Amino acid sequence: MKGIVASEGLAVGRIFRVEEAQVVKPFFTTEEHELTRLRNAALLSIDQLTQIRNHVMDHLGKEEALVFSAHIEILKDPVMMEEICQLIRKDVVAEEAVDEIIRNYVELFLSMEDEYMRLRSSDIRDVGKRMLNNLQNFGKNLFSGMEPNSIVVAHDLSPSETAQLPLDKTVGFITEIGGRTSHTSIFARNLGIPALVGVNGAMKLPNNTLMFLNAIEGEVVRILPGELDFYLTRIREHEKKNRELEDTKFLPAVTTDNHRVEVAANIGSPREAEIAVRSGAEGVGLFRTEFLFMERTGFPDEAEQFEVYSEVARSMGERPVIVRLLDIGVDKRLSYYKMPDEMNPLLGKRAMRLLLEHHEILETQLKAILRTSLTGNVKVMLPMIATVEEIRAARNIIDGIIAEMKNEGAAEELQIEIGITVEVPSVAISPDLFVDEVDFFSIGSNDLIQYTFAADRMNQDVSYLYQPCHPSILRMVKNVIDIAHDKGKWAGVCGEMAGDPVTAPLLLGMGLDEFSMSIASIPRIKYLIRHLSLKECRELVEESFRLKTHAEVDALVRNFLQQKKIAL
Ligand code: PEP
Ligand code: MG
Repeated sequence: MKGIVASEGLAVGRIFRVEEAQVVKPFFTTEEHELTRLRNAALLSIDQLTQIRNHVMDHLGKEEALVFSAHIEILKDPVMMEEICQLIRKDVVAEEAVDEIIRNYVELFLSMEDEYMRLRSSDIRDVGKRMLNNLQNFGKNLFSGMEPNSIVVAHDLSPSETAQLPLDKTVGFITEIGGRTSHTSIFARNLGIPALVGVNGAMKLPNNTLMFLNAIEGEVVRILPGELDFYLTRIREHEKKNRELEDTKFLPAVTTDNHRVEVAANIGSPREAEIAVRSGAEGVGLFRTEFLFMERTGFPDEAEQFEVYSEVARSMGERPVIVRLLDIGVDKRLSYYKMPDEMNPLLGKRAMRLLLEHHEILETQLKAILRTSLTGNVKVMLPMIATVEEIRAARNIIDGIIAEMKNEGAAEELQIEIGITVEVPSVAISPDLFVDEVDFFSIGSNDLIQYTFAADRMNQDVSYLYQPCHPSILRMVKNVIDIAHDKGKWAGVCGEMAGDPVTAPLLLGMGLDEFSMSIASIPRIKYLIRHLSLKECRELVEESFRLKTHAEVDALVRNFLQQKKIAL
């Protein structure tokens, strides 16, 4: 069976299926009894969720625990509870009443236009499931009877169920639904448990079957008699490689012919900054500030933003931190801010285009960043730049704020480096028009590929057009790097290309200065760079420029790595 890798790793274990609780609806007793049962179930649920929240806070952090605070809020919502009580007063048994009202709310949220609100429907469903479970059998543990070395299989694991996984007995988990970015997947990654999601028909796997969970290539296979040793050896080799990566992650990314590059992290929160440092990051090449604006009810003020940016800067010490201005629009929406209604939001008012229309949002963020730059090594990055005028407009505002801060007594040397993400072809095909306006370029390859191929990066049907090795992309990237170097400036990549072992050797060969990637990729890319020479990577780039398709270049690099005995 195939699935989507939610959390990388390999495991051998026996299947343990988590069955959906079957709700048996009992007969209505008396109104008073039903209301008492409801109250007890709500109190028990709040109690359980508080425990889970505290446990998650201690083991994973404040942000991961937020979702459980939201669950508690749902249970404490007097309007919803009153609706349930009203049904009970009409002689409806508690289970039925909870089921019906939760279902109504789930449908209501699912029908909302706002993506953020639609996603909240799964929280309500999760809370409903817990209430029903508690009404039926006062907190029966879903995982009771689970043996050590189990691969947990479920149709779907809610965040609260994932948080209760008996970690000492779980070697991996598989769910039938879910995506890489669901809460559950993020949990699995943070816990370091190999996990596959979106595995069709996984609940048909019989309990106790011995299986190999390959959460690297995205499959789960049955282990036949006599095959166990083969899989255990694979796991041992994988662990050996991981140990090697772990042991070398703090070494600099220097090629065998002494060319050094910077390997930095893409982060979304202060906690990730800490993890980045522990993973060997030499800086933050992209701080996606959107997350600071999400999961809340209004824009964060300057003081709050300053606190968050400072926390990141403190964690990074001397290392550089590139803060990207708010890049909202399309998939990243704020519940408290109405985005314009557009036919093609991907090509509409997003990121810098929105910010330049809303000076108050832009200025608040810039002030917080500039204040942070007084004590930390902070740079600012403008997202989705398409024209020189946009950079000039932003620079004007930044200069204005700096002048104001100096007037108010800030140090005379206050200044900040300003870079742009190169993700719109108008910039990527003629970086010479832009280079004098900026201090650095950071190529956002995810969007650059989307806009170059005119293929929505969220649309599965056109995902084959995500072609990072395509010669058109490589030529643009090389041009951006060359033009930056001509003018004594540096260039980085902060899209997935930087952390992809197939594209990284090409970027290295083109002379890229900074590779910024998901934290998990850092040790592997550093290891890769330390085993390559700049000379051979330059030759690889030259050879790739003679090819015409993504597939040909991809094969060229894979072959090159294979000959060098570097496993992907
Ligand atoms: C990119 O587009 O490559 C990028 C790094 O930004 P995001 O993925 O946040 O759009
Ligand atoms: Mg982008």
